[in-house]
Amino acid sequence: MTKRVVLIGHPVAHSLSGAMQQAAFDALGIDARYEQWDRTTLQLADAVTEVRDDAFLGANITIPHKERVVPLIDRSTEDALATGAVNTLTREGRRLVGHNTDVPGFAAALDRLVGRQKMPRQAVVLGAGGGARAVVFGLIRQGFQRVIVFNRHLHRAEGLVRFFGRSAAHMELKALPWHESIIESELTKTRVLINATSIGLTADESPLPAGVIPGDLLVLDLIYNRTRFLRDAEGAGSSVLDGETMLLHQGAAAFSLWTGQPAPLEVMASALADARARGLRSAEGEPAGEEPAGQEPAVAAAAPAGQTESTPADEEAAATRAG
Ligand code: NDP
Repeated sequence: MTKRVVLIGHPVAHSLSGAMQQAAFDALGIDARYEQWDRTTLQLADAVTEVRDDAFLGANITIPHKERVVPLIDRSTEDALATGAVNTLTREGRRLVGHNTDVPGFAAALDRLVGRQKMPRQAVVLGAGGGARAVVFGLIRQGFQRVIVFNRHLHRAEGLVRFFGRSAAHMELKALPWHESIIESELTKTRVLINATSIGLTADESPLPAGVIPGDLLVLDLIYNRTRFLRDAEGAGSSVLDGETMLLHQGAAAFSLWTGQPAPLEVMASALADARARGLRSAEGEPAGEEPAGQEPAVAAAAPAGQTESTPADEEAAATRAG
């Protein structure tokens, strides 16, 4: 019987994850189908219950449900507990286990960004949402000694710092108010700069004015796109990386959790590139170029009838959250 894996989010249409995961199943001859379910917050609990069935290998969870899904499952792994967010579900019988593969995804991106250089110890992180949590946890685990978090709403950055409290007791993890002069001053003391805000996701905007970014940094944008932020940083002379590596590796880690097999990384990378060229988007909301008119998603199986409705208010909330 064909096994099912489902991406649950809102919105999820035209997701790059579908193309990437289906290509991996097909390449390894695994009889499984990756589906995409657009479910509002009110529909989340029912969707999660459905995944307990034998027909499912597991699920991906995306915006805006990564934190809300935690109380609906039976157990969280260390990365999920440490970040308070779940993006992948696996089954143990009818029990559901929550994982956070954004953590290994970010670790792969950081490795690629740093390359052969010595791993730096200081970072500035812009943003304090779910993505930023995986980033800050990854930096702590990597042995960073000083991590400064800036966020538009300072209380959210302070909440993030409190959340990591004990695991960051040996280092300096601070939330600072989003003032250009403070950010500029911190950038002179750092080696790594990461954009974990959604600024640049839907419009050609940068979280920072071009002149503020020094020319000797390692700069990562979680957004799967060549954003203005990355173009400005590269223009200043910094080394840059976009969110593709993180997206690919979080997907590869999820694939291995569902199937018990190593992920065919090259197949997945090339499926991502193809899907992106066709105008599909990541479920995280990263723009992937213009969507050709009338383009159908390549691997989006239809959701069960009656379960795809969402209110304009829900959509507005999700769009706000995604960018
Ligand atoms: P959240 O909705 O949890 O957080 C959004 C963040 O962006 C918050 O820090 C928010 O600040 C900030 N923000 C949004 N709009 C503005 C604005 N106009 N001005 C200033 N700050 C703003 O989203 P996630 O953390 O899940 O995702 C953040 C980004 O990371 C997205 O672009 C997403 O696509 C990307 N991502 C990429 C992944 C990958 O695999 N490549 C994985 C996960 C995320 P505030 O708290 O003040 O509202």
